[in-house]
Amino acid sequence: MKINEAKIIITGAGSGFGRAMSLDFSKQGAKIYAIDIDTSAMKSLKGEDVNIETFLCDVSDNIQVEKTVGEIYALDKKTNVLINNAGIMKNALMVNIMSRPDSRHSIDLWKKVIEVNQNSVFYMTRSVADKMIRNRNKGAIINISSISARGNAGQTAYAASKAAVASMTKVWAKEFGVFGIRSVAIAPGFIDTAGTHDALEEKMLAQWIDKTPLKRTGTIEEVVKTVAFAIENDFVNGEVINVNGGLTI
Ligand code: NAP
Repeated sequence: MKINEAKIIITGAGSGFGRAMSLDFSKQGAKIYAIDIDTSAMKSLKGEDVNIETFLCDVSDNIQVEKTVGEIYALDKKTNVLINNAGIMKNALMVNIMSRPDSRHSIDLWKKVIEVNQNSVFYMTRSVADKMIRNRNKGAIINISSISARGNAGQTAYAASKAAVASMTKVWAKEFGVFGIRSVAIAPGFIDTAGTHDALEEKMLAQWIDKTPLKRTGTIEEVVKTVAFAIENDFVNGEVINVNGGLTI
C-alpha cells in the first residue's frame, strides 16, 4: 500500500514518534486520524495539516476506545491502517533495597504501564480490526514495541508490556492474514527523544551508545521511515523490525 492511499489511525499522536508520523504521512497525502490524551497537543496538531483529524481519547480505557473508533469509522469506513504507538516509559527495580519502607516494585505502577502499553493495543486492535474486516478493508496494524522487550534491567513492567506487543503482532499476523491485513511490530532501540533522556541517566545512555556498533542514538525520522516501510511493503507480516543501530546483533 502506498502511503498516499493510507487512511491511518495513530495513537499517542501528540508527541514524539506519533506527532512526527502524523506530520510526515499527512504531507505525503495520507489521511490521519490522530488520537492522544493531551488536549493542547491535539489542538496544536490539528492546525498543522488539512489531512489530520484529531481525537481526544485515553486508549487504556476501552469505553473511550470504542467511542473514538466508532467516530472515525463513521467519518471514513475505508480506514485501513492502525498504528498502536501510545505508550509510557517507566522504570523500577523489582526489588530496590534503597527504597524504604517497601522495597518491592509498585503494583500501581505495574498496572498503569500494562494498561497504557499493552491493554490499549488489545482494545484498539480489537475494535479497529473488526471494523476493517467487516468493511473488507485490506491494510496493516503496526505496533510500536521496544528493544526493552528483550528484558532490560529496571523495566519489568515496560519490558513485559512491549514483549506482549511483539507477541500479539505475531498472533494477529496469522489470524488476520487471510483478510489481507498484515501485522508488523517496530522495536526501536535508544532513540534521541525527550522520553529517552527522562528515563535514562546520561551516564547510562552513554554506556548503551558505546555498546551500539553505530556509536550513536537513532533519530525519530529513522523510526518514522521504518514505519513507512512496514506500511508500504505488502509482503512483510508478523515481523518485529529492530531499529537499534545493531545493538542486538
Ligand atoms: P512520547 O513522546 O511520550 O509520546 C507518547 C504520546 O502518547 C504522548 O503524547 C502521550 O501523552 C500519549 N499518551 C500516553 N498515554 C496515553 C493514553 N493512555 N491514551 C492516549 N495517549 C496517550 O513517546 P515516544 O518517545 O514518541 O514513544 C512512542 C512509542 O514508542 C511508545 O510506545 C514508546 O514506548 C515507544 N518507544 C520509544 C522509544 C524512544 O526512544 N523514545 C524507544 C522504544 C520504544 P502525554 O504526554 O500526555 O502522556
